[in-house]
Amino acid sequence: MDWKNTMTRLGYRISEPRKKIMEVLEGAEVALSPQQIHQQLEHKGFDIGLVSVYRTLDLLTSLELVTVVYDPERNPGYVLSSTGHHHHIICQKCHKAMEFSGTDDIEELIHRVEAETSFQVRDHLLQLFGICPECLNTLNDRGDK
Ligand SMILES: [Zn+2]
Ligand SMILES: [Zn+2]
Repeated sequence: MDWKNTMTRLGYRISEPRKKIMEVLEGAEVALSPQQIHQQLEHKGFDIGLVSVYRTLDLLTSLELVTVVYDPERNPGYVLSSTGHHHHIICQKCHKAMEFSGTDDIEELIHRVEAETSFQVRDHLLQLFGICPECLNTLNDRGDK
């Protein structure tokens, strides 16, 4: 993970709260809410205010080191983000978040929307829901019995 290089390059200190929050996110397969991150840090004996967690997440998000995704109930949570054009797919069963590359993903749709609305499309938000391989296995196992 080169997030430390990215922060240093952009002139940000690798402060203890930033480091600790990134560590929590690096260890998580599912998106975490600020409250969940706060709880995990408390369990590890790292005393940090919830407001600082929010503030740090805002910074990490603006630096594109972290992304907001939504669980199947549409609750927002934070996951690590790699650089470049990509999106996330979220498992509807276990809420695991995985990245996929976004190269030219919705070109056709954008052209159609531009033609239909006369807007110029500048950006997009995209997230997919599905069933991850592990959960598919569990479902199949159950089906066999
Ligand atoms: Zn799953
Ligand atoms: Zn995209």
